[in-house]
Amino acid sequence: MNKNPMVIANWKLNGGTDLICASVASVLQHDFCAQIGIAPPYVYISDMANFLRNSKVMIGSQNVSKFESGAFTGETSAQMLKEVGCQFCIIGHSERRQVFLENNASCKTKVKRALAAGLMPVLCLGENEQQRNLGLTNDIIYRQLHESLEGVELNGMDLCVAYEPIWAIGSGKAASPETVAEIHAFIYQELIGIFDKPTAARINILYGGSVNKDNAEYFLQMPNVSGLLVGGASLVPEHFAQICVLASKSCAI
Ligand code: PEP
Repeated sequence: MNKNPMVIANWKLNGGTDLICASVASVLQHDFCAQIGIAPPYVYISDMANFLRNSKVMIGSQNVSKFESGAFTGETSAQMLKEVGCQFCIIGHSERRQVFLENNASCKTKVKRALAAGLMPVLCLGENEQQRNLGLTNDIIYRQLHESLEGVELNGMDLCVAYEPIWAIGSGKAASPETVAEIHAFIYQELIGIFDKPTAARINILYGGSVNKDNAEYFLQMPNVSGLLVGGASLVPEHFAQICVLASKSCAI
């Protein structure tokens, strides 16, 4: 891969002032060549973006509205996120799909909104346990990719895709690195079909699901794995920093 790996922290509905201070202090101790991003809850984005203003660490959101503005109580637009310092937004996380009934169509609208506002979309996809047991993983991923990305114009902007098998998220049971490599190869091929080869080659394809400081390097060594999306382990600042250090070892020289 001719791009540097990317590690993104998804704090979900966790964190507060203490975690912000500890995480900022921890990441600022390093000069990672990997691309690092942190997605705290919305209310902390502005503060974190300010604290990290002079660093290369990106701040992002865990979601974005599919609407631009108007009578949509509780929503936050891509433009607003950009204005407070976001550089990326996570879209279609399985918790949003399962709990908030998001689907591929809404993900596509959000991807377009993010790109239009100058945010890098981090599109999450992955199968649940039942689909996996039925051998439907590739079918599910195919639909998620095509229904969320076909017709999307990148116009030179970055896009990131995160493969996150639902059964591996927060379960302590990460997928095997070999399985991840196989599915990432499939994702890469589909991205070539949706965009073109040079564009697909620029897209970081992350793995997420029970990644921790002890298993991170096994994923990072696999072909077509160009980064990690980290949930639980990102809430321990030293562990997250260790994962970022590991990712930085596989930077292109
Ligand atoms: C996630 O929710 O995006 C995630 C990868 O969680 P965890 O690392 O805790 O499995």
